[in-house]
Amino acid sequence: MSRPIVATIDTSALRHNLAIARQAAPHSRIWSVVKANAYGHGIDRVWQSLTDTDGFALLNLAEAILLREHGWEKPILLLEGFFHADELEILDRYRLTTSVHSNWQIQALAKAKLAAPLDVYLKINSGMNRLGFQPEQVNQAWHKLRSLDNVGEMTLMAHFAEGETTEGIAGPMKRIADAAQGLDCPRSLANSAATLWHRETHYDWVRPGIILYGASPSGNWQDIARCGLQPAMTLNSAIIAVQGLKTGDGVGYGARYRATGEQRIGVVACGYADGYPRHAPTGTPVWVDGVKTQTVGAISMDMITVDLTPCPQAGIGSQVELWGNNVKIDEVASAAGTVGYELMCALAPRVPVQLR
Ligand SMILES: *Cc1c(COP(=O)(O)O)cnc(C)c1O
Repeated sequence: MSRPIVATIDTSALRHNLAIARQAAPHSRIWSVVKANAYGHGIDRVWQSLTDTDGFALLNLAEAILLREHGWEKPILLLEGFFHADELEILDRYRLTTSVHSNWQIQALAKAKLAAPLDVYLKINSGMNRLGFQPEQVNQAWHKLRSLDNVGEMTLMAHFAEGETTEGIAGPMKRIADAAQGLDCPRSLANSAATLWHRETHYDWVRPGIILYGASPSGNWQDIARCGLQPAMTLNSAIIAVQGLKTGDGVGYGARYRATGEQRIGVVACGYADGYPRHAPTGTPVWVDGVKTQTVGAISMDMITVDLTPCPQAGIGSQVELWGNNVKIDEVASAAGTVGYELMCALAPRVPVQLR
């Protein structure tokens, strides 16, 4: 028998979540964001469940090439564009749409020898101050690009730092409007949060990521509780040992939990080397043998310990869900002071993955 941990990717949930994104932005085309190996789900595993999309957005050339080699012929957007001028040859060969966020990229496009023009997403710095041109620089960058034979269709692109709130959208929308003044152009602005909650941001293409995987862009799963999204990833394991504690007995490294009475605890084959967050404190929710209970003590590399008080029937071999339909990945993440994004991206390579 092998170690009982397994991650299951629900392909119908991916399909369903994409349909929900479409319902939320019915007049826009969709870039399904599959960067970071499809948020840890495995781009080669999930892309075929998302082929109702209009395009895939990512940032790693190897992932773009993989999609082309698997036969995806529709658009692929490089969210951060090219990192070196010599990559333009690959963008040309694989027909990749590129973001342009800096002047050196415009110069590189001007000099490149391409077989055909490349479609370009000109990135506006909407106030987040990561990538993009300041609003007042956009018009000039736009016209410079427009004059190049190497540039095909052009779209304005921006990203929101606080897409959850109306106030978080208002300032950036103003900067984007300033930047776009006098330009007759398609726009792509909305991440998951803006796709769900801010119609005025939708325009021509939306770019949902996290909601395709069924988790919350705000980090609070209650924010998406009524959207009908389904978790795409379930992480399961099983109890491999049981201990009976007496008052004062410590559990795990540092004895960070001590029993306050007689207590049964279960040892689960899952630890931080599997991607479970090491900072999850005592009290982090976990599903054991059909019942919601909680972790006790420190998270180890290969094991966690859970309270069996609410599930006296549970024992060695009982099924455990670390996250999935019964315990939301966002609940585990927020207990550990992080977001669902990080947990799914951090699923460790040693965890076997199956498709359902
Ligand atoms: C990651 C990313 C997205 C998707 O963000 P979510 O919050 O996962 O929807 C959209 N646009 C850009 C530029 C991104 O980097």
